Amino acid sequence: MSIIWDVDVERPVLPPLRGTVAADLCVIGLGGSGLTAVREAQARGMSVVGIDADRIAAGAAGRNGGFLLAGIAAFHHDAIDAHGHDKALALYQHTVEEMDKFEAAAPQAVRREGVLRKAHDDAEWEDCLVHRDALRADGFDADVHESWQGRGILIPTDGTFHPAMRACLLANAAIADGARLYADTPAIEIEPGVVHTPEGEVRAANILVAVDGNLHRAVPSLAERVRPVRLQMVATAPTDVRLTHAVYARDGWDYWQQLEDGRVAIGGGRDVLGDGEWTDATEPTDAARAYLISLLAEMGIDAPIEHHWAATVSYTDNGLPIVEEVQPGVWAIGGYCGTGNIVGAALGRGVVEQFATGQSRVVSDFTAD
Ligand SMILES: Cc1cc2nc3c(=O)[nH]c(=O)nc-3n(C[C@H](O)[C@H](O)[C@H](O)COP(=O)(O)OP(=O)(O)OC[C@H]3O[C@@H](n4cnc5c(N)ncnc54)[C@H](O)[C@@H]3O)c2cc1C
Repeated sequence: MSIIWDVDVERPVLPPLRGTVAADLCVIGLGGSGLTAVREAQARGMSVVGIDADRIAAGAAGRNGGFLLAGIAAFHHDAIDAHGHDKALALYQHTVEEMDKFEAAAPQAVRREGVLRKAHDDAEWEDCLVHRDALRADGFDADVHESWQGRGILIPTDGTFHPAMRACLLANAAIADGARLYADTPAIEIEPGVVHTPEGEVRAANILVAVDGNLHRAVPSLAERVRPVRLQMVATAPTDVRLTHAVYARDGWDYWQQLEDGRVAIGGGRDVLGDGEWTDATEPTDAARAYLISLLAEMGIDAPIEHHWAATVSYTDNGLPIVEEVQPGVWAIGGYCGTGNIVGAALGRGVVEQFATGQSRVVSDFTAD
């Protein structure tokens, strides 16, 4: 079944790469992370070649829930417990700053209307309050919120966006500014200074691999540290039920938002769907669809399901993303543990800064012990 984000979005038609091209930077993977890197490099005066095995935002970057949440995958208080206060605060701050840049680059695709973390039960409600207090203690906004959708905490600076529209806006702007972007062009071998593709090669002193869900294959040396997992969503026909906010619930396992035309896009349930979701297969399953329909029914939504899709993302064991020089001049990013929209953009931008200047606070804070 189709992807809601493909409706009304026309991707730029890109040729495959044939022959040898050269640039200051080669970006492998033209999802949200890679395209942010392309634009950052152009802003710094670098020439750029970008290649994608398929098309613009073919992977999770064009198939996700459309949430813009500050922070890493763990909630702020959990990140403090896991990684220490200073590191958790630095990472949260970087994502807050990235969100503003993200919005500025494609404002038509972004809605910063706040996102609700909904408490599923009393224990999660207690956790919501600890979460709120940790954010407030560090100077970030978070308020208790209650509506017919339930109670939880509202983070007013978070938001939602249209993933494929944003990617296409970035790609079109990049092409207009002289980036050479190629579709149907997988990187089949990456070595310092050169990326080999089926019918050509890219020569570049700086290479960025931004293929979150496919990192285990594109960079085999990382295969032990990243694990692909399938995430699934459905979207309904327009419904008369009006949701007050975009919501994530049950500690983020489930998430949904209502689009401007009344459709509801909802995903989640990976924990209840079982170990079969630890896969790089992207076929949607009947079990996921049934689970998501049951969540909609709890909200009184019985509009027909018109879209059902899946994509893979990568998880790491410690919950922190990969941002690493894997060969001289070759950096890899990914492993966002299901929350790569902002973190991936921040790291794509950060690695370009690293290439351009030899240092990046974003990179050093994400990699610090
Ligand atoms: C259903 C679902 C819901 C999600 N919801 C959210 C959310 O609400 N908020 C959030 O922050 N995150 C969410 N995520 C995670 C988020 O979508 C991803 O972490 C993020 O989009 C990763 O973007 P990316 O650009 O790094 O990589 P990807 O989107 O995975 O892009 C990789 C690109 O690289 C290409 N590629 C792969 N291998 C090669 C190769 N060898 N050579 C060349 N090109 C290659 C692919 O074709 C693809 O276009 C969700 C993910 C899914 C699947």
